[in-house]
Amino acid sequence: MTDSNPPNAKQIFRTVQAQLECDRFLGARWLPLGPLKTDRSSPGELNHMKPSPDDPITKQKRQKLDALAQQVQKCTKCPLHLSRTQGVPGEGNPDARLVFIGEAPGADEDAQGRPFVGRAGKLLTNIIEAMGLTRDQVFIANILKSRPPENRDPSSIEIAACIEHLYQQLEIIKPEIIVALGAYAARTLLDSKDPIGRLRGRIHQYFPHPMADPIKLVATYHPAYLLRNYTPDTRRRVWEDMQMVLRELNLPIPQKNK
Ligand code: URA
Repeated sequence: MTDSNPPNAKQIFRTVQAQLECDRFLGARWLPLGPLKTDRSSPGELNHMKPSPDDPITKQKRQKLDALAQQVQKCTKCPLHLSRTQGVPGEGNPDARLVFIGEAPGADEDAQGRPFVGRAGKLLTNIIEAMGLTRDQVFIANILKSRPPENRDPSSIEIAACIEHLYQQLEIIKPEIIVALGAYAARTLLDSKDPIGRLRGRIHQYFPHPMADPIKLVATYHPAYLLRNYTPDTRRRVWEDMQMVLRELNLPIPQKNK
């Protein structure tokens, strides 16, 4: 668009509409619009993202994840076990096609033993629901399973001591795609020093170990960063990243303008 070619009413309407959809995606449910439109003709089409608790393989995976969670609670491999209230192993669907990975538990997570339950967690729940999914259809975990005091950044020693738990979770779940939330998760998993702005917006191949099949990985901004930088631009970028994830999973994009 140039100055000699000003936007017409239709273009302005489309831009505003796209921004409203994006705001609603991130939880601005006060907007006076109807329910989010999806391409789904019935909610049953997402059944393949639902946990199937009676399936014997799912049961076995659940048992393995539970056993791993108990190991996390007993783990003393790094000094964080001395300051934490409890470990936060992660939670969700043992058959999840999609796994979200954050940095480390904060105060709310440390108190409840569950990942992403504070303010950033509420925003992550909004993001998941705006994708047409629920928290129990996906799996949510962190790089570190224990809270660093005062929410300081994880140290490389703590990451080295803890990362095996995450590798084992991914080995059990075998997700199709991982969303790395924020620079720490993305840089740790991709073994990169690049800023998150350079890592987001594309599909990476993540190798849990050199002989393993790669898992697709999309990096995006951490919900806590999004809360601090709640600009139309960052919201739009996160929504673009989540649309890319939905396309990779062949799931409908709950939005009128794809
Ligand atoms: N931030 C994270 O990275 N993980 C959580 O579980 C909560 C906040």
